[in-house]
Amino acid sequence: MNVTPAISLAIPLADPAAASTPKAGAAQAARPALVGLSKPELIETMAGLGEKPFRAKQIWHWMYHQGAKSFAEMTDLSKDFRAKLEDHFTVGRPDVAREQTSTDGTRKWLMNFSDGQKAETVFIPDDDRGAVCISSQVGCTLTCRFCHTGTQRLVRNLTSAEIVGQFMVARDSYGEWPTPNDQRRLLSNIVMMGMGEPLYNFDNVAKALKIIMADDGIALGKRRITLSTSGVVPEIRRCGAELGVNLAISLHAPDDDTRSAIMPINKKYPVKELIQACRDYPGLNNARRITFEYVMLKGMNDTAQHAKALVKLISGIPSKFNLIPFNPWPGSLYECSDPATVRAFSDILNNAGYTATVRTPRGRDILAACGQLRTDSERLSAKEQRLRDEQERKIAEAAWQEKEAAI
Ligand code: SF4
Repeated sequence: MNVTPAISLAIPLADPAAASTPKAGAAQAARPALVGLSKPELIETMAGLGEKPFRAKQIWHWMYHQGAKSFAEMTDLSKDFRAKLEDHFTVGRPDVAREQTSTDGTRKWLMNFSDGQKAETVFIPDDDRGAVCISSQVGCTLTCRFCHTGTQRLVRNLTSAEIVGQFMVARDSYGEWPTPNDQRRLLSNIVMMGMGEPLYNFDNVAKALKIIMADDGIALGKRRITLSTSGVVPEIRRCGAELGVNLAISLHAPDDDTRSAIMPINKKYPVKELIQACRDYPGLNNARRITFEYVMLKGMNDTAQHAKALVKLISGIPSKFNLIPFNPWPGSLYECSDPATVRAFSDILNNAGYTATVRTPRGRDILAACGQLRTDSERLSAKEQRLRDEQERKIAEAAWQEKEAAI
């Protein structure tokens, strides 16, 4: 659920760094990874090698508490056992095809998975803590009109290993091993807001988050994890029951007409059903509120009437708003609302008693959606730029139509 349009997680169409290491993860493909297995699966896997269950416990500790990247580091295992593990498995981490750090401290990794598919992960620091934004799919089946990823086909779901692996790579990058206690973590939170709709890959996402939450490993509490969805109503209920993590809803409009125009999934799960699923989400109170993400689109969803309708719609739900100034990309249909309009919109929400923060765009210099980078480097004339934008818009429209026909 990519609600960070200023930090586009779309895979660059032509990425020299990625192109230079297309098979970087391929060498690992022959031996399966142990990262990503649930505890019972790890015990079963060890049993397959003729080993006792406590071996699984030792390996779990090395992988998720100590952050070991190789069996050689697991020094309390016998040399023979380490050699046996090495013969059959890898620990398992995605390769990093590229790492970039923004002038504002935001860091982004292009992950290269064992089949050569790629997705991006972003760390957004905030003083002495910060959130890692994780992808759940390569591409996306949905077609949210404000989202660049929405123009891409779904290539595949990420596995639980690839989802956990993104967080582990981020912690490798900051040397945050062994797992520190909660108060001392720089990588203190996870937001499932990267590429893809996490609730359309629920089994793998749930498995990965359970591994991340397990208290004898990475031990990140459910209060520190936020899953963002476009509104897949049945799975929201499952998410509440099975995971109990914080919920963010990519809402973006208070009524069906506007929301369906921006997010075609609304035709399947309309606003009323979505809001009811929010009301029913377990464990909500003033300290644990639903976050409603709201991208500010000029003339589309940003009037005072929209803000007042929102207040009415979510009345009684412990909630807060995250207003996101839209970051246009070539082919996008929208412009960002004016700053004064964003302020007036947030004032209405604040005056009604809701926290409404305006998200500051982060990491623009390192990501700048692939189309923007290309524009900068080619130095197009205004006319050429208009033609390019029109061409991109047509491509995006065709992609949306094709995907919608297939849904
Ligand atoms: S669900 Fe898919 S199309 Fe919609 S915002 Fe998320 S990544 Fe983009």
